[in-house]
Amino acid sequence: MPHTVLMAEPRGFCAGVVRAIDVLDQILDREQGPVYAFHEIVHNRYVVDRFRERGAVFVDTIEEIPEGSRVVFSAHGVSPQVVAAARERSLKIVDATCPLVTKVHLETKKAAKDGFDILLVGHEGHDEVEGTKGEAPDRTKVVDRPADVQALGSLDRPVFVVTQTTLSVDDTRATIDAIRERFPEAEIRNDICYATTNRQAAVREIASRADLVIVVGSANSSNSVRLAEVAKTMGTPAYRVDGIEEIDPAWYEGVGVVGLTAGASVPDELLEPIIEDLKARGVTSVEPVIVATETLEFRMPQELASS
Ligand code: SF4
Repeated sequence: MPHTVLMAEPRGFCAGVVRAIDVLDQILDREQGPVYAFHEIVHNRYVVDRFRERGAVFVDTIEEIPEGSRVVFSAHGVSPQVVAAARERSLKIVDATCPLVTKVHLETKKAAKDGFDILLVGHEGHDEVEGTKGEAPDRTKVVDRPADVQALGSLDRPVFVVTQTTLSVDDTRATIDAIRERFPEAEIRNDICYATTNRQAAVREIASRADLVIVVGSANSSNSVRLAEVAKTMGTPAYRVDGIEEIDPAWYEGVGVVGLTAGASVPDELLEPIIEDLKARGVTSVEPVIVATETLEFRMPQELASS
């Protein structure tokens, strides 16, 4: 049975998620009427449920929000079309988009203005990809893997490449190599963020030393899903769970060392019951495995910064 837990560091909340949660938290504290959030504020079931209990209303279309209401845009960002629709309904907007996502929007918008066709490496349908694509919908094609690049028709203009922020570092390298091969002159920005990169490096490290890796994070959290995939590429069995209730104790059979990590939208308190349970099963050592130290903090949006 397990005797050791290796804790990936960094893991859990990134600066963009902390900021988005603080934004919604402050608004719920100060506003009387209902507060709407366009899309899940961050992709974590636990976080979203806690906000729902406090009165936040999560919607997937702007039309669901009564005119003049307060709306918060999630950390994943929104397209200019969504902003326009919100303004048309006279919504009071607070934008909790992660500044690193905003940077990708700005790159995309400028590239379109400068006459490029844009290849957006990312997962079609993900909130962040929808938002970025909306900056230049007629010029942008989403590619997820090398085969998508090979399947592209010819492009009329020079090519500019941006990426979703939460992709697998290794898979993205392969897709970008395929783009370079087809479009050798392409201008390439790799926008995978520091938090995604560090969490993947940390999970790779614990996976190399563990018999089993558990990743805490929701199924719609791109970066959490990627963490489990990265662990598996090291040949280590890995499971993504929302919390302890989804862990099957049979996974621990024959396992001495358990690696534990969490996606960027996951509060650390969700890991505590898992660690306590492992201690009750015989774990005597809980060791941090540190691959990077993060100090980045983002300023609050202007609407809230002065308060
Ligand atoms: Fe921002 Fe990266 Fe966190 Fe996404 S994962 S919110 S891009 S810091």
